[in-house]
Amino acid sequence: MPNLETLCIHGGWKPKKGEPQQLPIYQSTTFRYETSEQMARLFDLEDEGYFYTRLANPTNDAVAAKINALEGGVGCLLTSSGQAANFYAVFNICQAGDHFVTSNTIYGGTFNLFGVTMKKLGIECTFVDPDWDDDRIRAAFRPNTKCFFGETISNPGGNVFDIERFARLAHEHGVPLIVDNTFATPINCRPFEWGADIVTHSTTKYMDGHATQVGGAIVDSGNFDWEASDKFPGLTTPDESYHGLTYTKAFGRKAYVTKLVSQLMRDLGSIPSPQNCFLLNLGLETLHLRMPRHCENAQRVAEWLEKNPRVAWVNYCGLPSNKYYPLAQKYLPNGSCGVIAFGLKGSREDAIRFMDRLDFVSIVTHVADARTCVLHPASHTHRQLSDEQLREAGVAPDLIRLSVGLENADDIIADLNQAMN
Ligand code: PLP
Repeated sequence: MPNLETLCIHGGWKPKKGEPQQLPIYQSTTFRYETSEQMARLFDLEDEGYFYTRLANPTNDAVAAKINALEGGVGCLLTSSGQAANFYAVFNICQAGDHFVTSNTIYGGTFNLFGVTMKKLGIECTFVDPDWDDDRIRAAFRPNTKCFFGETISNPGGNVFDIERFARLAHEHGVPLIVDNTFATPINCRPFEWGADIVTHSTTKYMDGHATQVGGAIVDSGNFDWEASDKFPGLTTPDESYHGLTYTKAFGRKAYVTKLVSQLMRDLGSIPSPQNCFLLNLGLETLHLRMPRHCENAQRVAEWLEKNPRVAWVNYCGLPSNKYYPLAQKYLPNGSCGVIAFGLKGSREDAIRFMDRLDFVSIVTHVADARTCVLHPASHTHRQLSDEQLREAGVAPDLIRLSVGLENADDIIADLNQAMN
């Protein structure tokens, strides 16, 4: 198995004699066959081949294979957004009447998806504070609980998730742990090595890294034993809509990811375009170079903020004073990510005035980009949450989310400094 750096460049696409060195964009909805019999064999699952891009496309598959290799899984599905990825990851094993448990320190969009929209589908979730002790977390599980969900590094708070501990708690209850690994990326953390069963990504963020495409990914470790209980009939009993096949019997360790593609993607259809997958692949080719630089720059900026008398507090797990520093040392020894949360002394308006005075550091609803950017979640991404929900999600009203880019760290600090002054 090649190292991550080599996988970033060569994973997924291996051109043969005379084929393009760069991954081709198969911008085609469909694929041609020469006889009706050939096509019929595909539908009967007697032959393998591409027929319709909603189900599979060579460009998309190559990029999925690269992300799968980076995470060390048995299969990966790309989606049109990170939101779709997190929805599919949970919906693949939950149906109306089911329940799941999630960390409450997760991205606002995921918080809303789980707490409001999935509830309308009859799927309930319980939000727990990952800092609670084991017994309090255990109390959230019910007989109909189907999974546990958390983010390696939470957006926007920057809390580090104790993957090994939550894998143990999930497995104690016979359910898988799903980890959104968007901020750490497999360069800095590979959750399967700590017991997570499913990994999701908003590939919109560091994997792309240049703000060119919105996308998502779900990777299956293949490690969870779906047949050990009767909790997952969608995987362990025949699917009438798919030739009466039982996923665990027919596909073994690839049961979960096969169901994602052949049932959810077939029926819900949130595919990324081949063009977007091509752009994502370009980003992935430098992920291993960009992540260390994001971390190095963020460390410099976080240390500067911590010493700054205008700053009330800083949350960056690379600071030894940070509550999550010990967990970061364990799970993220080479660095976490470029995202820092901090608060300025003064009022909410002072925070807004500071952001308005920034020069190249830009106000955007985005993070994890080559360009340094800033956002005030309470006024922007999380404005749909009440103050109580904000607090529950670990988002202070004065929290400024700073996503440190790849510019010169001195220049980033100079821009922050002049805006504060
Ligand atoms: N997960 C995390 C950790 C995120 O930060 C985001 C978006 O910011 C998402 C999921 C949703 O991804 P997308 O915006 O690609 O739909």
